Amino acid sequence: MKHRLFAAVVLGAALLLILNPPVAQRPERPCIVLMSIDTLRADHLGCYGYPLATSPQIDAFSRESVQFMQAYSQAPSTAASHMSLFTGMLPPVHGVTNTHTIDNHTDLRPLSPAIPTLPEILKIGGYLTAGFHGGGYVAPEFGFGRGFDLYVHRAIQWNRLWHNDKTLSHLRSWLARSRRESKPLFLFLHHYLCHDPYLKAPRPLVDRFLPQLSAALPRSRQDLPPRIHPDESTPARFWRGVDKDNESHRRHIVAMYDAGVAYSDFVFGRVRRILEELKMYDRSLVILLSDHGEEFWEHGDILHWRLFRETLHVPLLVKFPGAAMAGKKVDVPVRMFDIMPTLLEYLGIPQPAKVQAASLMPRLREEAFTPPPPASFSNGFDSVRILDGKFAYSNQPSSGETEWLFDGAADPLEKRNLARAGHPLLARLRRLATALLMEQKKLAAAYKGRDGQSAGLDSDLRKQLENLGYL
Ligand SMILES: [Zn+2]
Repeated sequence: MKHRLFAAVVLGAALLLILNPPVAQRPERPCIVLMSIDTLRADHLGCYGYPLATSPQIDAFSRESVQFMQAYSQAPSTAASHMSLFTGMLPPVHGVTNTHTIDNHTDLRPLSPAIPTLPEILKIGGYLTAGFHGGGYVAPEFGFGRGFDLYVHRAIQWNRLWHNDKTLSHLRSWLARSRRESKPLFLFLHHYLCHDPYLKAPRPLVDRFLPQLSAALPRSRQDLPPRIHPDESTPARFWRGVDKDNESHRRHIVAMYDAGVAYSDFVFGRVRRILEELKMYDRSLVILLSDHGEEFWEHGDILHWRLFRETLHVPLLVKFPGAAMAGKKVDVPVRMFDIMPTLLEYLGIPQPAKVQAASLMPRLREEAFTPPPPASFSNGFDSVRILDGKFAYSNQPSSGETEWLFDGAADPLEKRNLARAGHPLLARLRRLATALLMEQKKLAAAYKGRDGQSAGLDSDLRKQLENLGYL
């Protein structure tokens, strides 16, 4: 009898172990490579329909991935969008943004310590965490370095990679360390290779997209006009001679941007090759996305600060381990920051209670789940763009308009502002937008998103922001 009881207890314990394995025996967690290509418009990639050959590597990757065809970023600015990615919170709530645009003042207070970040959560979940970033508005001063074992700028010189593969040795050594220590690695990779001024692509790529010198505009740093005063920044010199009413000037600018996209594609291919050389590619989870797009005068202006399709529609590609769900295309609109809870659900790691983003895993499992419609906020958080079915409404005043309404089905390029002549939907969408902004302001007050101590703007960060055209 005693023996039988003992056997039953042992069997029960074994069953419990099978059903609830201790943490150490859980299935291996994959390495995660999250590559953010700053300022990359979805519609300038082949896999999102661009007719020019800007992206052979990313197009091949898209066939092994789940591709979100309509992913929208939460802000058309680097700091706000990346912090939404890192926290799953909307920009007005986490409060981190490129605040140079507010009263000409650079607010360097970092993210509140009360809001957890993705790298912190992954670190607690047993990950090694390394970030190789491009500086500027993803600098650690804003709170982006939290949870990283290593968070560095310039260790990888992305702009030299065309000629110098050795600059990826740090990446290689972190991957090798992950393998050696049998600990999964979270790798955040970020660069500005297609951010303005569009001068980072190597000459052969520039020549491919700009075969003829169509305008007396710079094709490289050497071509930049002399400074008109000692403090004139590189972006100011790049844009100085550009005439927006000159068709060949506009073509020149877009071609320079496309060369930057093609260079970003080359860089992505090199990172992939290192993963393959170390035999880590197949079982890694690789995400490619961007923080926002870029305007090329579609609505009369350039760069990224306004709320239009061209500044908010970003690539979002996820290759799961073993290429699970390869080739799947998700056509419903999703929010780029939904990737944080998606990742955590996939890994079996609980997400923080207050996260506003929603996991997309139910959608990938073909469950009846419609992701919440995207909303995007401009820098000062006074304006919002919301999607309501096929319509996009924004209350951002610019170019002489006070609000915008587009019918995405009839007018995908958003050429006709239906708000101008009035529209039956306007009153309801206006109310929705105002209510959403009010709700976020209340949440922001409750969460105190940005209340850490400022580290101050040192000369190095000032230089980085100047080189990106922000100061
Ligand atoms: Zn950016």
